[in-house]
Amino acid sequence: MKNIAVLTSGGDAPGMNMAIRAVVRSGFHHGFNVYGVYNGFKGLVEDDIKKMTRETVSRILNRGGTILGSARYEAFKQVEVQQRAVENLKRRNIDGLIVIGGDGSFRGARDLHTLGIQCICLPGTIDNDIASTDYTIGFFTALNTAVESIDKLRDTSFSHQRCSVVEVMGRHCGDLALYAGISVGSEFIVTPETGYNKQQTIDAVKTSYQRNKRHTVVVVTEHMVDINDLAKSIQEEVGYETRTTVLGHVQRGGTPSAFDRVLAAEMAEYGVELLSRGIGGRVVGLRGMDYKDYGIDEALTMKKTISRKRYGIVGRLVH
Ligand code: ATP
Repeated sequence: MKNIAVLTSGGDAPGMNMAIRAVVRSGFHHGFNVYGVYNGFKGLVEDDIKKMTRETVSRILNRGGTILGSARYEAFKQVEVQQRAVENLKRRNIDGLIVIGGDGSFRGARDLHTLGIQCICLPGTIDNDIASTDYTIGFFTALNTAVESIDKLRDTSFSHQRCSVVEVMGRHCGDLALYAGISVGSEFIVTPETGYNKQQTIDAVKTSYQRNKRHTVVVVTEHMVDINDLAKSIQEEVGYETRTTVLGHVQRGGTPSAFDRVLAAEMAEYGVELLSRGIGGRVVGLRGMDYKDYGIDEALTMKKTISRKRYGIVGRLVH
């Protein structure tokens, strides 16, 4: 193998640039030419592929987003479309591809691997919803952003004696809400893992109000709760003035934390090393203090285990 490529796909995440940089630098170390594919699988199909140099990746490690751009490109699920991507790679004698993204991107990589391109997947998503790694690239930066924002909300909600219902991202994974909830001392969290019980949520706020707390924070994972309806009910039943905030895409941006930079660099280095040994079709993950790799299908079928201990902590710290 002499030529490899790298792309970012799905939702962008802080730390993706560090991963791109590390693929390029580490690729050079192994004697590869490294190509950058712009806008994910879409760019691969549209032949938006350029050779990377040291200069193309200089001064990017502290930048959020991805210099290569990302895309959601449904058409890539069709094998004829995937074939066009393979042709574009083969024309340049590119045999290895590093795909940085979430589980959807891993599916695309698996299909490309079946069509003869050695693919390595790096988990890059703020949601931390990939079971084959303890942490994904971008998660801790997004968490810090959420925590900083909720801290600020607490300041104002304390001053006015209010309850704040805050919606954070996470898709179908409650980690952002759970870790943010612990970090800010939230009175109640609602995640896909806990499920949503409206009355239970209102009762928790009531308990807090009856203790004369000047501020109460409820953190919820997106797509689970009609937060305006919840706020209205809290106000009516508890008498606690309640405001809602959707943190939204602000959680995706910003300079990556040191942890995400190290994670991105080490995962990328690990992935390139696999390609240098002629190994593809793998997903890189962090397990404890070590990096591991798994078959793409194996990684995709893994189930994320819920940290019951962490959920227990929320309840015990508050009540
Ligand atoms: P995030 O977790 O940030 O949403 P993701 O990688 O899971 O990231 P998706 O939108 O699910 O984001 O997938 C990214 C892209 O991967 C899709 O737009 C599509 O191009 C490709 N993809 C997703 N699923 C498949 C599939 N089953 N087969 C082939 N390609 C796929």
